[in-house]
Amino acid sequence: VNNKYRNFPMVPKVIFGSGSFDQLPSILAPKRKDKAPFIYLVDDVFKKNEEFLNRLHLRFNDKLLFVSTMEEPKTEQVDTIVKNIKNEFTYQPSGIIGIGGGSVLDLAKAVSLLLTNKGSASDYQGWDLVKNKGVYHVGIPTISGTGAEVSRTAILTGPEKKLGLNSDFTPYDQVVLDPDLTKGVPKDQWFYTGMDCFIHCVESLNGTFLNAFSESYGEKAYDLCKEIFLTENLTDEESRAKLMMASWHGGMSIAYSQVGVAHAMSYGLSYVLGTKHGVGNCIVFDHLEEYYPKDVALFKEMVKLHDITIPQDVCSNLTEDQMEKMIDIALSLVPLWENALGDDWEAIMTRDKLRALYLKM
Ligand code: NAD
Ligand code: ZN
Repeated sequence: VNNKYRNFPMVPKVIFGSGSFDQLPSILAPKRKDKAPFIYLVDDVFKKNEEFLNRLHLRFNDKLLFVSTMEEPKTEQVDTIVKNIKNEFTYQPSGIIGIGGGSVLDLAKAVSLLLTNKGSASDYQGWDLVKNKGVYHVGIPTISGTGAEVSRTAILTGPEKKLGLNSDFTPYDQVVLDPDLTKGVPKDQWFYTGMDCFIHCVESLNGTFLNAFSESYGEKAYDLCKEIFLTENLTDEESRAKLMMASWHGGMSIAYSQVGVAHAMSYGLSYVLGTKHGVGNCIVFDHLEEYYPKDVALFKEMVKLHDITIPQDVCSNLTEDQMEKMIDIALSLVPLWENALGDDWEAIMTRDKLRALYLKM
């Protein structure tokens, strides 16, 4: 039998609303197994936030680990956390709870999977390599845009590549969407991560993989982004709630299609220069008028309206080796190019063309 269509797993449980985070203890209680702790992976931006920490309610031998987001998650970091958990606890954890942005959400998914799958996280970078169901995992976003809370991947930088753990076991078992948790996000970061969502929609809606499933989610998220970033009609509270749902829909849209040119090129920047995903996408997208003319124009309007600085000239001092590596990484993401440019993508996106684009950035 040729299985033409993917049978796609979705997050089975989600709670939404301002203050819904306070229901976490009652969500977790029935999932607690005797002597088996819950492990909380929390963005270290909350380390000194007493008000937030008081709402966590750790019990018994539950463990809280703060995660730095100075760098995006790495396979090695996952391996270390998993090893430490295995050393410290006799019992497999009752659950892993990731609280933070895309970085922490991806890290927590990966930790959950590596607790039940042997070897290193780098062994599972790719599509459908994960064999066993992970430990129960809960995702709680504190910044909106990546769609990592809903997606089937956990993006990691490994020794050889930046590539996700894409599998049916990756999506969260439970997601808590509390827009109030995004209150402290700095403005630039709000914009960069928000644009990740906008760009997910643009790349999905303009891709050759588009279908009615992806389109229905993508259009909703796209319209929400326009409302959030181009009008001044919304209260802060409405804007936070809508961006959280835009992120969700954007993630759902790419689940059944793919991203495109901006993401492929942004992965190259990230691998070679360590550029973060959100800002990297903005750096790239700013120069993609040839591929997404209407939406690059909208993007520039949004940048102007919110007075955001997009870094310039990031590629001007690359060594030849770095440039070659960047091009290799970008071109390795075959499904993204197929989606963006169709079957003939290799004739369109040559190494020289990519180099010329990078040199503009
Ligand atoms: P991030 O997680 O690195 O967070 C960005 C910054 O915002 C950090 O400095 C963080 O400390 C801060 N922050 C988060 N919440 C905050 C709050 N409430 N108050 C104040 N500061 C806060 O960035 P991101 O853009 O959310 O995620 C990027 C990561 O997500 C990358 O690693 C990327 O690969 C990944 N990603 C994953 C998917 C997926 O489907 N799995 C999709 C897109 C991106
Ligand atoms: Zn993205």
